[in-house]
This record gives sequence, C-alpha cells and structure tokens, in this order.
Amino acid sequence: MSGNKLGRQKHIALIAHDNRKEDLINWVKSKSDILCRHFLCGTGTTAKMITENTGLPVKKFKSGPLGGDQQIGACIANGEVDFMIFFWDTLTSQPHDPDVKALLRIAVLYDIPVAMNRSTADFLLTSSLMEDDYERNVVDYYSRIRKEHFGGI
Ligand code: PGA
Repeated sequence: MSGNKLGRQKHIALIAHDNRKEDLINWVKSKSDILCRHFLCGTGTTAKMITENTGLPVKKFKSGPLGGDQQIGACIANGEVDFMIFFWDTLTSQPHDPDVKALLRIAVLYDIPVAMNRSTADFLLTSSLMEDDYERNVVDYYSRIRKEHFGGI
C-alpha cells in the first residue's frame, strides 16, 4: 500500500461487538470466496472467532476493550488498514465507547470504506471497485491549517 491509494488487495479490519459477532461470522462465511483474496485483521476475540469458524487467516490485535480498536485506528492512520467492517452493537453501551468513536472518526478522516451493517457490507464487497485501485480523498490538513492561520503562506 502506498500514499492514499487502495490497492486491489485490501487490508480489511473486521470487528464486532459481542452481540454482533455471530452476524459478522455468518457474513464472513457468506463472503469467504471474496475475503480470502484480501488481507484480514481484527480485534482479538473477533479475529479468533472468525478464524475458528471459517478457517480464514485473520491477524489478531488486542481485544477491543483492551485497546484493539485504538490499534486498528493507528493502522488506518499509518496506511496499514484501508477497509473496515465494524458490526457495532446499537443497543448496548460499551466500556470502550470513546475508543469506538475515535476509530470511526479516523476511518472517516482517512476516507476508507466502512460498513457497519450487513447490507452495506454486501454492497461494498460486491462493488466493482473491489477489483481496482482506488485513490482516497484524504483532507490535506496542513494546507488547510496554513490557509486558516497564515493566509496560505
Ligand atoms: P473483540 O473486540 O473482538 O476483542 O471482542 C471488539 C470490540 O469490542 O471492539
């Protein structure tokens, strides 16, 4: 991966809160023929359960409540993760809600494709863009700051 380009082989982060893990595992099973062509990673428990249930290799970060979401956020900022499927629980608050919010912010900031429910995940994964390179539109923060504070110098 280089610059703001998403290559044909995506680096996909898979995350699910406890009440959504079964849904994510079932979705991964249904799309394993596509997902097996990409690099997969995930928060600790999600990654472990996906590998156990589908046989797909998934690089494991720490469990979400122990910092896994923050690790994945750092990977997005470093250009090491460029695609995310995150089935979060809309009905239960989490001890690490601030980390979840931070992760979602970073994903939007770096303009990576993100699916947070099954239908979006289906649309994303079957997009023709999956087979192509794609240039992300990342805000040029430094020129924005220069313009705002120093009149464009
Ligand atoms: P887990 O973390 O995969 O380790 O359960 C997910 C999360 O809660 O962010």
